Amino acid sequence: MQLVFNCICWLQLTTSQASYRCMCSAPLLSLESVTKYYGDLPVLRQVALQLQAGERVALTGPSGSGKSTLLNCILGIEAIDQGSIALEGVALHGLSNKARDHVRRIEMGSIFQKFHLLPTLSAYENVELVGRLVGMAASECRERAESLLATVGLSHRLKHRPSELSGGEQQRVAIARAVMHRPKLLLADEPTGSLDSENRQAVLDLLEALSDRYEIALIMVTHDGATTRICDRCLKMQDGAVSTD
Ligand code: ADP
Ligand code: MG
Repeated sequence: MQLVFNCICWLQLTTSQASYRCMCSAPLLSLESVTKYYGDLPVLRQVALQLQAGERVALTGPSGSGKSTLLNCILGIEAIDQGSIALEGVALHGLSNKARDHVRRIEMGSIFQKFHLLPTLSAYENVELVGRLVGMAASECRERAESLLATVGLSHRLKHRPSELSGGEQQRVAIARAVMHRPKLLLADEPTGSLDSENRQAVLDLLEALSDRYEIALIMVTHDGATTRICDRCLKMQDGAVSTD
């Protein structure tokens, strides 16, 4: 059920429409005093964060400290109560729902620990769908999806459904899907959390290579100290507050 819900959320983030113009001299992402409550419980406290284009940041911290909530707020899956989140100088929470969805659809990608691929689609279809949803021409969709799946080492698995793929292979499909539309910002919530050490290394190498190749900034939630090797800096979350590690 959770899987279906997450897939639907992901599709909703990827399908709605509106207009958006960036103010490109600003940092790629800027969070100021972001505060969020669940009921009376403060889960994000005055979070401030800036990210430049192509920059990679690891976000660590104990379970329950608010890491996933922070990513969900940046993605707009969750609303914030105070503060602001701006992408290229545009405050996302000042936009209409449609415009905010458009920004996410075009500018952001996401990867989760449990992959969240659409179970009835093949590896190729999971990736290619993103191109169609953002309005790419059919031929470009096909070329880019095949090329990305080759980059992640899955040319021989194009027709396999997620249930016919290993965990490492599913995560590589999810990475290809997340960058299919060349987002400027990739949000990864424990992307190596379900993988063995060999697949962890492969996923990290891919994230680093794709981030470098397409200048995609990355915020990666991780519990694994080794994963920070691909990051420019490391932030720590504790009780809803973010500090430099
Ligand atoms: P992390 O990802 O760092 O493990 P989360 O962001 O998932 O932490 O959760 C932060 C806190 O918010 C936890 O105390 C969690 O129980 C609480 N929380 C998360 N989601 C909800 C929700 N939908 N409703 C109420 N509390 C929530
Ligand atoms: Mg979490």
